[in-house]
Formats: sequence, structure tokens, C-alpha cells
Amino acid sequence: MKIKFDKELPSLKVERDLKERDKKHLWHPLTQHKIHPKALPIVKAKGVWLFDEDGKEYIDGIASWYTTMYGHCNEYILQAVQTQMQQLDQIVFSGFTHEPAIKLSEELIKILPNNQEKIFFSDNGSTANEVGIKMALQYHFNTGEKRNTIIAFEDGFHGDTFGAMSVSGLSVYNGPFEDFFIDVQRIPTPNAENINSVLKQLQSIIEVNRVAAFIYEPLVQGANAMHMFEAGYLDQILKICKENGIITIADEVMTGFGKTGKTFASDYIMTKPDIISMSKALTAGFVPMAVTSCTQEIYNAFLDDSVGKAFFHAHTYSANPIGCSVALAAIELLQTKEFQDNIKRVTKSHQDFDAKIKGHPKVKTTRQKGVIYALDLNIELDRYGKKRYEIFEYFMQKGIFLRPLGSTIYILAPYVITEEQLNMVYDAVHDLLKKI
Ligand SMILES: *Cc1c(COP(=O)(O)O)cnc(C)c1O
Repeated sequence: MKIKFDKELPSLKVERDLKERDKKHLWHPLTQHKIHPKALPIVKAKGVWLFDEDGKEYIDGIASWYTTMYGHCNEYILQAVQTQMQQLDQIVFSGFTHEPAIKLSEELIKILPNNQEKIFFSDNGSTANEVGIKMALQYHFNTGEKRNTIIAFEDGFHGDTFGAMSVSGLSVYNGPFEDFFIDVQRIPTPNAENINSVLKQLQSIIEVNRVAAFIYEPLVQGANAMHMFEAGYLDQILKICKENGIITIADEVMTGFGKTGKTFASDYIMTKPDIISMSKALTAGFVPMAVTSCTQEIYNAFLDDSVGKAFFHAHTYSANPIGCSVALAAIELLQTKEFQDNIKRVTKSHQDFDAKIKGHPKVKTTRQKGVIYALDLNIELDRYGKKRYEIFEYFMQKGIFLRPLGSTIYILAPYVITEEQLNMVYDAVHDLLKKI
């Protein structure tokens, strides 16, 4: 459903003057302000639509970094938040508990891979991974083993806090911090050609290091331009980890909650992770919140008569009741027939679009998993280079918000996107291919 733009807004434009006021005190993420001083003010969002200060509309083709999968300002979720806000806003989660957190733990355990038993709260994807890494390290510490190395994929992305940054392989911009990273060994993502050498590399890392954990994005590496790999190969890696007592941490921050066509990408893989991190679509774009789940075995290693073996990690807003109520409403929506049908429909549309476009001379390769679709252009582009910004601007002119990653264009729209709106996105991509 497309909503009408609020006619009162344009008249507010002059006094708002958001573009100029923004420049005065704000420092934006991932932005070189000297080269890119402008930020686009968005004043309203509904469903798949974003509205800027001047009344121009854009389809949010990447669901605002894969968060607003149920559509912006989803009415059902809004009601749940409002009710919760009037009932209980915030309470310290150390020593206190509440219904939304309890209920959310119950609902998550129902939909998570069935070896998961415990739910730990934090604030965002980075902290969810930070928690996972610390759980894994302390698990070994508590059980009396000295293990300090973490294995991760080359070019993975797990967030921007120190532990998460250390295990992230996309390190071009990590220069100032690399001397302070935790000990990480990297392996390539597996494919048909390299699987044997990847397994060999893994074995030799295990032989010479005391490996505590392996952290990975299952099947799709979001920030690595939606790079995809097969479940079977990952399974072989995970099996070796399990045989060697290495804690496996699935970073489902991007892939979680239906995007791959199953609730979690881990559902495609036989060997289940010991720890799973979630955020982004968990709270449907309403509030920042994250969850790290783990097995009973991990949890049990922290149970002791001594306080020192406890997990001393907390965030002030851990299990914020409003965040929990949002997540509950979102999970409820995800499980409805309507949303499951939407996921199937969008998946099918991407397949049809792919069939049309993959032979195009300007297209190098395409890939898809569920509602995640990506294509690589036949030209080399810097991740944050000039040409990449031109392509971004080109889509914005057409009223489509897509965020190219180097020469990759990907679509990851809210599940509520209609066929008509999807065609607008596809047409814009088609037109770009004609232009470049
Ligand atoms: C976005 C993302 C993160 C980091 O989450 P933040 O909420 O931005 O800290 C971690 N892992 C993956 C796979 C992500 O996509």
C-alpha cells in the first residue's frame, strides 16, 4: 500500500533547513565529510516508502540495512510498542525480569535451531558478536583450557566494536586499529574449487594454534557484497570445528528472520552452531536491540559456586521491554501465512528477474538466496569510489534507494514490497545497465 505524502511537510521545509543544520554538529558513519558533505534529510517513512524533505519518494530497496523487513512504521508492531510503552519502559535486567523478555526468549527458542537453549541480550549486531566471542573465550577459560585464537572468514563482517572488528576481514579501513586486535586466523569462504585446500588450511591452523572459536556469516556475507557460498561446504568446516572442541558462532545479524527463505540461514546447514547472534530485523527497524543465543552446554560452563565464572557482561538497556515487545510482534508477523507468502513471492520475482538479466553483457555474475538478490557489474568500482556514488545518485533520481557495494548492486527490500514496486526497482537496474 502506497501512502500519500503529507501535504503539510513541504511548507515546513524552509524553517527546517535540515541539510544546513545537519552540517553544523553532526558526524555521520562511514562518511568522509570532506568529499561527501551532504546528507539527505528523510522526514517520513511508511511501508517500502521513504519521503525526503522536498516531498520526493523513494522505495527503500535495502530495507534500511535489512532492518525494516515488515515495512517502515508497520502498524501492527506500532500498536505493540505503544501498549508496552505505557506499561513498562525500562528496568535493570540484572536482578529483575519481565514478561516481554521471558516471552521473547520462549518464542525465539521455538524458532531457533533446536540445540539453542539460552538467550542473552545486548544492543546491536556488533555487541551481539562481541558477546558471542566473549562467551566462547570464557567457556574455555571456565573449563580450564587455554584457547585464544579465533578463526574467521576472509572478507567477513561482524561489526565495528573491537572484538567484532578484529574478526572482520574487510580490513581496508581498520588500519589505525589492527595492532590492537585479538588473535585471529582467516580462511577463505569455501567453493567447489577450493574446498579441499580450505579444509587443509583449517586443519593446519588448528594444529599450530589454540583455537577457541570459529565465527562466520552463514551462506551470505552481507557487507562483502552479498557474497554467497554453499551449505554443504560450510557444514564440512563446522564438523571439523566440532571435532576439535572449537565453539562455532553463527552471525545471523543479516541473514536472520526469513531473508534466506528459511527463518535462519543455519536452518540450511546440518551442523548447528553453538552460539547465534541476531539483530537488525529482530526489531524490525523500530529500536536497536540484539540477542545472542547459545546451547545449554555453553551456559552450564558458567554455572559455579564462584562468582568469577559468571558472565560479567551487561548493557544498560539489556532486554529493554519496548525492544522485546517489538521483537515479539515482528516474530509473530514473520510466522503469518501472509508474510511467508510474501517471502516466497519476492523470491520467485527475483528468480524471474534473474533469468532476464543474467545474460546481459554489462552483468558479470548474479546470485540469490531467498529475498536477497545481487548482481556484479562488468566494471571494477571502488567500494566508496566516485563512480559508485554516481550509480547511487542515479537510482535516487529514479526514486529507488539502493546502496551499491563496489560494483555489486543488491536488492533486499522489505517483505511487503508489491510486484509493481519490485518492477520499479528492476526497471531502474535495467536502465542503469543501458546507461553504463
Ligand atoms: C550489520 C551487521 C553487523 C553489525 O551490526 P550493527 O548493529 O551495525 O553493530 C554484524 N554482522 C553482520 C553480518 C551484519 O550484517
